Amino acid sequence: MEGTPSDGTAAISTRGLTKHYGSVRALTDLTLDVNSGEIFGFLGPNGAGKSTTIRTLLGFLHATRGSATVLGLNMVTDSVEIRRRTGYLPGGIALYDSLTGEQVLDYLVDMQGREPKRRAELCDRLELPGSVLRRKVRDYSRGMRQKIGVVQALQHDPELAILDEPTEGLDPLMQHAFYAILDDLRREGRTIFFSSHVLSEVERLCDRVAIIRAGELMAIHDVGELLARRRRKVTLRWRGAAPDPTTLPGLEDVTVDGSRITGSLTGEVSGFVRSIASPNLEDLTIEPASLEEAFLEYYAPGQATTEEAQDR
Ligand code: ADP
Repeated sequence: MEGTPSDGTAAISTRGLTKHYGSVRALTDLTLDVNSGEIFGFLGPNGAGKSTTIRTLLGFLHATRGSATVLGLNMVTDSVEIRRRTGYLPGGIALYDSLTGEQVLDYLVDMQGREPKRRAELCDRLELPGSVLRRKVRDYSRGMRQKIGVVQALQHDPELAILDEPTEGLDPLMQHAFYAILDDLRREGRTIFFSSHVLSEVERLCDRVAIIRAGELMAIHDVGELLARRRRKVTLRWRGAAPDPTTLPGLEDVTVDGSRITGSLTGEVSGFVRSIASPNLEDLTIEPASLEEAFLEYYAPGQATTEEAQDR
């Protein structure tokens, strides 16, 4: 059947999923599988179609064409069951202003018919004390609202959480608390599908990442592989003149400046370090290029190094 996970292990499976608003092609032909037990990042700039995808998967929007399953359930006919079994954080969450934080959490968990067994732990980790939870939501800051959003999505310990820009509005300390929560969920075998426009967050958290731009899937990457492939910036300084750079294996884009050599290295560091060992070597720096540079290298070779070249 179209849209059914091929091996039975996909937590989310889409086939040709498309959503157009009149002439606006918000999402076109998205086909991807999110495996059970993985943290999957859905990365793209604002307007790329991330929220549209998520809202369509959960049955809040009707697809123009294509199909999808979530936890093996049909996106169109089983949307109530899908929403009951998943945790969902909408983008820019709207809460019920006249209720307290605690009442909002009670109301939402009741709708799911589940026990809020993780609530106390999550509130503790996200620094939402009772004194805050007893206040009306209308008095909350943006960050507090987002924390309530995260807690409501995860408080019933769903097997799959779908989170739309979960760290938006969280300060850096709380972002890290959230990352630690996701790490724990991964260890416990939960599946997380989350959207983000922040590369560093994806690098830190995800097993795999799909990159979406203007409603189209650009690529799906294994983050570990991408990190292994990224270049490292190497700077070497010798006492006296630098040696012939062709004797340095694996070093590319080499620049020699008197006693100093700079270049970029891909692959194993250990062989390179052995090859340069010499009493005349005075200084050595090896810095990994960021994931951002690895992405840029991938999509626009040469672009990542332009700024560095200008800096030199
Ligand atoms: P993202 O979540 O990646 O920021 P969205 O899925 O919200 O992107 O939006 C994708 C595109 O669809 C954007 O161009 C947006 O302006 C458009 N869009 C979203 N909702 C509507 C709507 N209700 N009517 C028309 N266009 C919309």
